[in-house]
Amino acid sequence: MRTTVAIIGAGPAGLLLARLLDEAGIDSVVLESRDRAHVEQRQRAGILEQSTADALRAAGAGARMDREGLPHTGIELRFDRRGHRVDFPSRTGGRSVLVYAQTEVCKDLIALRFRTGGPLLFGARALAVEDADTDRPRVRYRHGGREEVLECSYVAGCDGYWGISRAAVPPALARTYERTWPYAWLGILADAPPSHHELVYARHDRGFALLSMRPPAEGADAPVSRLYLQVPPSTEAASWSDTEIWDELDRRVETDGGRPLERGAITAKAVTPMRSWVHEPMRHGRLFLAGDAAHIVPPTGAKGLNLAVGDVVTLARALVTHRDTGDPAGIDAYSADCLRRVWGAEHFSYAMTDLLHRHPDATPFDDRLRRARLDRIATCAAAETDLAEGYTGVPFP
Ligand SMILES: Cc1cc2nc3c(=O)[nH]c(=O)nc-3n(C[C@H](O)[C@H](O)[C@H](O)COP(=O)(O)OP(=O)(O)OC[C@H]3O[C@@H](n4cnc5c(N)ncnc54)[C@H](O)[C@@H]3O)c2cc1C
Repeated sequence: MRTTVAIIGAGPAGLLLARLLDEAGIDSVVLESRDRAHVEQRQRAGILEQSTADALRAAGAGARMDREGLPHTGIELRFDRRGHRVDFPSRTGGRSVLVYAQTEVCKDLIALRFRTGGPLLFGARALAVEDADTDRPRVRYRHGGREEVLECSYVAGCDGYWGISRAAVPPALARTYERTWPYAWLGILADAPPSHHELVYARHDRGFALLSMRPPAEGADAPVSRLYLQVPPSTEAASWSDTEIWDELDRRVETDGGRPLERGAITAKAVTPMRSWVHEPMRHGRLFLAGDAAHIVPPTGAKGLNLAVGDVVTLARALVTHRDTGDPAGIDAYSADCLRRVWGAEHFSYAMTDLLHRHPDATPFDDRLRRARLDRIATCAAAETDLAEGYTGVPFP
């Protein structure tokens, strides 16, 4: 088989890139190792920056998102048994975010691809990217029990942290930067109405907690709760009973005069490790890495999916410009352009994670410093603006 762009991975990065190329009349083939149900049901991100929502709308994938997504104009920081609301529009010149699950973004993009686009092969595992630094790269892959070759002009490695694309960058040319965190998140999905109308980020001496939500499922009329607890990295999700989870959430988000959380049946429970990691460069010859294949952020800043979208918007624009004008400047600048945005998001995610979690070795001095920073955000417009701008994200160039 031959195509212009071989896309490895049907997560948000690969699917949106395929859609943007479809719209521009550039043909592509998407290879995805898992089945469709897995991709559509994997619970992950849920906060779309304004630029991400705008990019999905511009790609014709925004209709259901705009009907069902929940616009949020702020978050609450909770510490010392009190809450402080950060208002986004007044601090950012009108920007906000949208709560709409990654599962739904993927469903919308898959439906569009099948309706109007080129091939999207589920159960197609890429094995290797070959000759990435020539003008005829190839992807070897396995599909339906047979080994196949996809010849192409470009390869987009959108295959996440565990993918194979990155291995095509020679080790002598690659550099990785990493920070692992001494804690993880225990995340649950619960059939319970959200206890607060916006997301609540709570710092507590027992550890961090996050009250988040997902829009109502099809046929339902109320949003459901998506809730997280800081836990030790080796935690087994099953080792926490439902009652223990609710009790611990109540303790960590409690405010003076506040009410306990709304409880309900827990329908999903999983532990997510925390990692900050960047692979440089994001391009080698005609191979472009995008999304989690090139960078990971801890989820505290809600940046992973948004970075993936920023990468593929940048890549699609570069490929279209090159096709239309012959100018390779966008392709040449792809890695540097993306990495500027990536490092900004790494910094924001690092700062949010460090501020809101309790390090296992934290001294009383460390705790006081973090509380001082939270006080600063709650009392100083410049500090609050910095957080609001980081959270809502910088506009795509
Ligand atoms: C619990 C959790 C909460 C999160 N919360 C947020 C949030 O609130 N906001 C946010 O912005 N981000 C969040 N993230 C991060 C976000 O989900 C990721 O950054 C996002 O999924 C990245 O998209 P991607 O397309 O780059 O990679 P992925 O979604 O990982 O997609 C990669 C795809 O490639 C496929 N693949 C892998 N190897 C191969 C192969 N060899 N051949 C073919 N296909 C292959 C995989 O099956 C997968 O479908 C969260 C992540 C987790 C785990």
